Formats: sequence, C-alpha cells, structure tokens
Amino acid sequence: MDLELKGKVAIVTGGNGGIGLGMATGLAQAGAAVIVAGRNAAKNAAAVKALEALGAKAAAVEGDVTQQDACRALVESALARFGRLDILVNNAGINIRKQPQDYTLEEWNSVLDTNLTSAFLCSQAAYPAMLKAGGGKIINIGSMLSIFGAAFAGPYGASKGGTVQLTKSLACAWAKDKIQVNAVLPGWIDTELTRQARKDVPGLHERVLARTPAGRWGDPGDFAGIAVFLASSASDFISGAAITVDGGYSSQA
Ligand code: NDP
Repeated sequence: MDLELKGKVAIVTGGNGGIGLGMATGLAQAGAAVIVAGRNAAKNAAAVKALEALGAKAAAVEGDVTQQDACRALVESALARFGRLDILVNNAGINIRKQPQDYTLEEWNSVLDTNLTSAFLCSQAAYPAMLKAGGGKIINIGSMLSIFGAAFAGPYGASKGGTVQLTKSLACAWAKDKIQVNAVLPGWIDTELTRQARKDVPGLHERVLARTPAGRWGDPGDFAGIAVFLASSASDFISGAAITVDGGYSSQA
C-alpha cells in the first residue's frame, strides 16, 4: 500500500477553489505536481501560489472545459510543463437553480456541458497520455444529487447521475489499461457554489445541518484524503465506485 504521489502529475479541473482546491491541496501534499484549470485567471494564480507554498510544483491553465479544444490543450499543457499525466480530477461544475418548467435549453445545456460533457472530453483527452504513462487515475465529482432528486436541480441532477454512469463505463473500458476511474459524491460542502445555494433556497442551511449526522457542513479540506487515496496505488483494485464523502448525509433516513 502506497499513498505516495511523488513523480506523479495531476490535472484538477475547477482546481482554483472549493472542493477542487481541497483535492489539489491533498495531491500536492502527497508529492504530485498539480495543474489547476479554471476560467478565472486571478483565482488560478492564487491557487498556484497556495500549492507552491506547500512546496509542490504547480501550474494553472486558463480555459473552459466545456470546449473540446480546451480539454485537449489542458492535457498538452500538462505534458509540455511536467512531461507526463497520471491523475485527472474532473471537478469543474456549476448549478442553475430553477423549477424544471422554467429552464431555457441554453441553461440545460450549460449545466450538462460543464458538469458531465467536460468530464467525458477531459477523460478522452487524457487517455493517450495515461496509456503512455502505463496507467492512470480518473476521479469524477458527483453529488448527493447523483442519488437523490431535488425540485430545484433538474439538469444538475441529470448531470450528476450521468457522471456516476460515465464513471462505470470508463472504468470498464480502461481497466485493461490500468486506468482506474471512480466517482466521489460530496455531501453539502461550504464553497462558493453552496453559498449561493443558501441564498437561493430558503431553509437549506438548517435542513443540511439537521440531516447531516456529522452535524456540520463539509469543508474543502475534507476532500484531500479521498483524492490522495483514489489517486494512489492504494486504490489500484477500486474502479467504477461511487464513494460518498458526506458526513453520513446519504445514510440518514
Ligand atoms: P465552486 O463554485 O467553488 O467551484 C467550481 C469550480 O469549477 C471553480 O473552480 C470554477 O472555476 C470551475 N469551473 C466552472 N465552470 C467551468 C468551466 N466551464 N471551465 C473550467 N472550470 C470551470 O464549487 P464547488 O467546489 O462546490 O464544486 C466543485 C464540484 O463539486 C462541482 O462539480 C460541484 O457540482 C460538486 N459538488 C459540490 C457540492 C457542494 O456542496 N459544494 C456538493 C456536491 C457536489 P472558474 O470559475 O475559474 O472557471
């Protein structure tokens, strides 16, 4: 069993904040070189600074992962900068909260493209590099809405349910190539995304606290451990799994 990631190279989409930065931090602490990808240059630069302060090699790539060219360019950047690619965390995500009857097609597509299609495109772009590296680890970020429904989250829930099924298909296809693909399903975590949700959905904060057995919201730092485990050889016989990191939320009746 080995949790060491020295010499490994990781891409974390949406790694410039929230859960992505929590995972990037864990990977960096375990010795990986980390590339964070996001659209916001200032957030990218701050994340690189924070990762470098841990003594890690880090870089940022500005880009929109809904675009196939951007996903390919992201992998090319990792190869140009650090010479290989071993780990891909498909974490970039958004939500638009409305009742189902009120979404435009553009809003539906924007959520599906950002949360689900980007994971497919980045995984496809990473595959040749992982083959060359002799194997790899892909970690997709689902949600409690991979399991449950919510009136205000039609496209988001569809994207996150799809993420789990995509994870299983990639895991089956690429096991022969020593690429393990798993999903992490966060509970309610305190990030920019949910700070907005707390404004949009009255009573959400209290409901989350009441239902989460751990009695608190999660913190991005809660994702460092699962990222290291799923990125390391300690998880080599785990593939196609959907692992909750939710303080017990999904176990509560
Ligand atoms: P944040 O809003 O803090 O982070 C989202 C990240 O995604 C940002 O870094 C953002 O960077 C990036 N991003 C969004 N769209 C794009 C895009 N088109 N191209 C590139 N990067 C993009 O949210 P969280 O940390 O909370 O969410 C991270 C993941 O975890 C998401 O997939 C979310 O669905 C999931 N999740 C979160 C939960 C929570 O409670 N917080 C619960 C369950 C799942 P930038 O703006 O610079 O592009």
